[in-house]
Amino acid sequence: MTKTLQYLKLDTFKNEPNTDFSLDGEVKALKEAISVARGNLGKEYPVIIGGEKIYTEDKITSINPGKNEEIVGTMSKIDREMAEKALHTATETFETWKLVKPEKRASYLFKIADLMRERRHELSAILIIEAGKNYEEADGEVSEAIDFLDFYARSMIQLNEDTHYLKSLPDERNKLTYIPLGVGFIVPPWNFPLAICVGLTASAVVTGNTTLVKPASLTPIIAYKFVELAEEAGLPSGVINFIPGDSSVMGDFITGHPLTRFISFTGSKDVGLHINELAGKTAKGQKWIKRVNAEMGGKDGIVVDETANLDAAAESIVSSAFSFQGQKCSAGSRAIIVESIYDELVEKVVQLTKELSIGNGEEDYSVGPVIDEKAYNSILKYIEIGKSEATLLLGGNSGSDEGFYINPTILGDADSNSRIMQEEIFGPVLAIAKAKDWEEAIEMYNNTDYGLTGGFFSSDQARIDQAIERMYCGNLYVNRNCTGALVGIHPFGGFNLSGTDSKAGSYEYIKLFSQGKLYTQKV
Ligand code: NAP
Ligand code: MG
Repeated sequence: MTKTLQYLKLDTFKNEPNTDFSLDGEVKALKEAISVARGNLGKEYPVIIGGEKIYTEDKITSINPGKNEEIVGTMSKIDREMAEKALHTATETFETWKLVKPEKRASYLFKIADLMRERRHELSAILIIEAGKNYEEADGEVSEAIDFLDFYARSMIQLNEDTHYLKSLPDERNKLTYIPLGVGFIVPPWNFPLAICVGLTASAVVTGNTTLVKPASLTPIIAYKFVELAEEAGLPSGVINFIPGDSSVMGDFITGHPLTRFISFTGSKDVGLHINELAGKTAKGQKWIKRVNAEMGGKDGIVVDETANLDAAAESIVSSAFSFQGQKCSAGSRAIIVESIYDELVEKVVQLTKELSIGNGEEDYSVGPVIDEKAYNSILKYIEIGKSEATLLLGGNSGSDEGFYINPTILGDADSNSRIMQEEIFGPVLAIAKAKDWEEAIEMYNNTDYGLTGGFFSSDQARIDQAIERMYCGNLYVNRNCTGALVGIHPFGGFNLSGTDSKAGSYEYIKLFSQGKLYTQKV
């Protein structure tokens, strides 16, 4: 096995193709998978610690956001004692897992990726029912999960074999190796509850660490499915301990615990900052400085100048703002348009948005429900704020009350300092601002505490070069939408309060879960 695996390096990595739903049978196959998933509604799922499945009295209820009377499943949750047990199990398992050869560790990821390829519709179906995604969004997320597994497995094989161009003294031999850190606390968000959970976990595991995986409480079932596949792939017990639970209580307990070595978090700014602060305190008995990788929110935006292709810009603004209901960290929730083309482009954006169909992901509408009642209320509150700060151009209200539906909303003439231009709304709300020229537009773009994704539309190369230099964000896209980063192609992570810029989906990423050990031997 090792012999073939060693050829699986990054140069032959290929992104997993998405399903072509125009092909005969693919829609039918997904619909069948949805009906199988519906047959499992209401099932109970366990905590898993050291391979032991534990069902608890106290449970998390996962609701279908598109039909909010429907319970997707109930998830057992850990208490303090189980959190302690999981930490000890992961610590003990680390002693053996860290000795497993990198190729062998990678082989588990390849196997999980294969299982996901076989069952992609099954996974998409759960994403559709539990997170309110449509076919394309769910299917794309499964591809991304597979990519993370395949890419990080190859990265590990490569990292292990990379020659480090160190100088050696004439009578010495030098080598730099990467060894794991220890026990990682893995905390993904609900909006990419499969791909990000897989990415954060796989990168930690393949580098030789053991983990406590705490799924987002709104989407625990899809995370469970991943852990189940890891088990099926033969990953040793205790490498991934699956510990759903109350984040505020268990989360702080685990972050602050002396056995926790690192925290891989993706989620909101406030929680990320809180974890970072807490992890900075040295607990009694703790022997290391905890490492925190925190990828957080965004207030991303697309800038358009008067030389741009306005049809292409309009399409990108609409898809960046409203795909998955604007619930992406990369969502283009701001558009900043120069004065001379403002009216024309805004008209195009409004027209295109009117064409979006709204409804349940199960029937594959373009805009589905937002994730839960809390988000629904918060987004509607922001829409009211927006109505007082800017001009309502479209939407501005909720949709069907069968689920948490909100009509795509566009607010024009927004001031760059207004709340709807500054705060992450995380819903189908687009704020548009007018700039006097492209330079002012870039300044307005940079007027944010965040710095995740940005877009620049222009046909003037000199301005594009300036935009590349001046727009301050981790992922800048020129003349295309600002969402949809691909593993290995668009390494992803933001600046400022968008996070630690860890660049998920890059070769360098896995070094964040490793420590460099140099040895020198006298010859
Ligand atoms: P969130 O509320 O911050 O939650 C993220 C995760 O943190 C969840 O698993 C949550 O658990 C957990 N959590 C909450 N408090 C915690 C604590 N004290 N200790 C440990 N864990 C804790 O974010 P979200 O609402 O799930 O996700 C949306 C946010 O994620 C947006 O801001 C979005 O921009 C951001 N995001 C960023 C990226 C990126 O790459 N930069 C990617 C995707 C999403 P519970 O669910 O149990 O509360
Ligand atoms: Mg939340």
